[in-house]
Formats: sequence, C-alpha cells, structure tokens
Amino acid sequence: MVQVNGNYLKLKAGYLFPEIARRVKAFQESNPGAPLIRLGIGDVTEPLPEACRLAMKAAIDDLGRHEDFHGYGPEQGYSWLREAIARHDFQDRGCEISAEEIFVSDGSKCDSSNILDILGEGNRIAVTDPVYPVYVDTNVMAGRTGEADASGRYGGLTYLPITAANGFVAPLPETPVDLIYLCFPNNPTGAVATRDHLRQWVDYARVQRALILFDAAYEAFIQDADLPHSIYEIEGARECAIEFRSFSKNAGFTGTRCAFTVVPKGLMGQTPTGEQVELWGLWNRRQSTKFNGVSYIVQRGAEAVYSAEGQRQVKGLIDFYMENAAIIRRELTAAGFEVYGGQQAPYVWLRTPAGLDSWGFFDLLLGRAHVVGTPGSGFGAAGEGYFRLSAFSSRANVNEAMARLRALAT
Ligand SMILES: *Cc1c(COP(=O)(O)O)cnc(C)c1O
Repeated sequence: MVQVNGNYLKLKAGYLFPEIARRVKAFQESNPGAPLIRLGIGDVTEPLPEACRLAMKAAIDDLGRHEDFHGYGPEQGYSWLREAIARHDFQDRGCEISAEEIFVSDGSKCDSSNILDILGEGNRIAVTDPVYPVYVDTNVMAGRTGEADASGRYGGLTYLPITAANGFVAPLPETPVDLIYLCFPNNPTGAVATRDHLRQWVDYARVQRALILFDAAYEAFIQDADLPHSIYEIEGARECAIEFRSFSKNAGFTGTRCAFTVVPKGLMGQTPTGEQVELWGLWNRRQSTKFNGVSYIVQRGAEAVYSAEGQRQVKGLIDFYMENAAIIRRELTAAGFEVYGGQQAPYVWLRTPAGLDSWGFFDLLLGRAHVVGTPGSGFGAAGEGYFRLSAFSSRANVNEAMARLRALAT
C-alpha cells in the first residue's frame, strides 16, 4: 500500500486559523445578523495600486502580439524586474546585492518553506516564540523535528521566547544552532529590530557559521529612518543570511502573487562530507527544476511598484494602514490596555486583561464586541496572554471596532 509522509501526522491538529473560523461560525449560527468586524487574519483590504494594474493590462496586450509574446520565462524572474529590485531595494540603501542574487517567486511563504529543500537534515534550528507558524510547520513536514509536547512545542527545535520582558526581540540561543528564522518587522508582535540587534545576530551567525533566514515581508511599514529594512544593511550579512521579501503587503499582491528571495553569491554551506558549497547554485538548481517562474503579467505589475507613481501609490497604502494602526494603538491605550507594536508594522500586540488568557479574550471580544482578532497563544506558548489585532481593514471598521472595545472596557 502507498505510504504517506508520517511527518504530517505530527502537526498539531488545532491549527490557529481553522480554530478561529470554527468559533466564528459557531458564534454566527447562534447570533445571526450580528455585525462582525474581522481584525484577525493578516490579509490586505485595499485595492491594487493603479500603476500595477495599468502595467498588468499592458502586459496582457503584449501577450496578444507575436513580437511581444512570452512563453516560459526564466525561472529566476525577468532580468528587468531583478534589476529594478536590486537597485531600488538594496543598492539605493547601500547594500551590495546584484540582480543575479534576486530570485523572483510566487510567495515568501513558499520560499521560506522551499528553502528547506537545499538544507541538510542535521541542522539545529531556532525559531522565536511566538512565531509565524509557517517556519515551524514546514520543518515538521520536512521531518526536521520531533513530536509536539503538550504546550505545542516540537522536539528538536530551539525556541527563543520573545515577550515584553525582552522587548520582543530574540535573545541569542544558549546552545549552538545552525539555522535561525528571524522576521522583522515582526508578525505577530509588530516589533522591529534595531541595527544593533541585527548586528548581534549577524556576528553570532558568522562565528557559528550558521544561516539566518530573514523574513522582511513588512519592511515597507518601517517609519523610523534609522531602522534597517534589510539584513544586508549589516556588515557581514552576505556571508550568513538569506532574505525573503514580498509584494503581498506593500503593494497588496496577496491575491496577485509575487515575491523574491535574495541568496548572495559566496554564501556557503557544508556537505555531509565537510566540503563547502555555495547555496546560490543549489537554490538556482532547485528553482530551475521545481518552479516555472512568475507570470510575465504579474512581473510587469511588480516592476511598476518601482516606478515613481508606483512608489507614491504604495506609500499611500502603507500610510493608510499605519494610520489604522495608530488609531488602534491610541484607542487601546486610552481604554487601559498594555499595547505593543503597530508603530513600524501593521500589527498591534496587546496584553490580555487580567484573568483572561488569549482564547478567553478572543471569546469575550467575539461574544461582546463582535470583533475577531487572533489569540497570541496560537503563535506559540510564549504568546499566551497576548492578542494580535491587524491594521489591514477599512477605516470605518477600525473606528467601529475601537468604539466597541471602548464600550467593553468601561
Ligand atoms: C504575509 C507574510 C509573508 C508574505 O507571504 P507571501 O507568500 O509572499 O504572500 C511572509 N512572511 C510573513 C511573516 C507574513 O506575514
């Protein structure tokens, strides 16, 4: 009989978002017509920038002409997009990254999981707690962990707790690790890393000869000019880091699909027999074999993000969501909540009121204010007692949700 991948059976059944959906459905069935506001799942709500739409329409017409038709494209992405990315996102910030080191893809979620294809079995892996669940679950699926314990932590992973006590930035591990997942600005806590914090990690990784997987999906939300947008702003990061970027959150491409991964030339790993191998070549091979590239139309849409109009329109989207975040922060603070994040990221992370755990607060908010958020404990054991609200929503919904929360608190 055909064998299944038994690693999948180690996955904790009660995955966060299905459990939220289950509770919301049960609530709606017993309260038909109650006006729900969803500030839960991190998906954008505003329409695509006009510059991107116009570029995609023109690209469709290109495909209708013999001389401009495009079939299979390069698996790594078209050179015009890779060059625009390298110049605007990296070289203009003083990072030494070339177009050849940019691999265009259909998502950071996919890339941060697919990267395990080129990494060995024996790596000691560190994740933060709370964490973006994809980093953990993909390691479970790939057989890189043991079983989950009662708190949901998997054997074999090193968990680095991030809480109010350490400002939601991960402490260096006490036992050596080879692979580290970092996400800044952070989902779910909304925290951001300073240059000094990233330097500590880069120094650690260079000494340990470890690899940092740096997820910068939210870099466009950084407001403070002193904060780093890329790990390559830190000296030495080319030797120890891969960076994931996405058009999902800055340009609203969550449904359109375009992202990219940066793999610097000269970034090395070790074979089972101790030889050094360049990761760039392995990732290039992996993508060429298992990936067909992003559609020509969508890559033209992504390229338009870097035009003057595109930049202006993307800034408009970011400003809109960050104003939502500011409203959420202000209202929650006024209502007496302990509030974190939301200043350099579209997520506000709050402490649940005394006597309520994360799911207890979820049920209260749903039942009494008809507002859906995300329980912090769903992102990891150390997220217990916290709660995430997303700034991805309409202004009217944010204002109404905050009015209901205020009413609840008084
Ligand atoms: C939304 C998000 C991404 C982007 O994923 P895509 O697959 O590119 O849509 C990456 N990392 C984190 C932490 C996210 O929240």
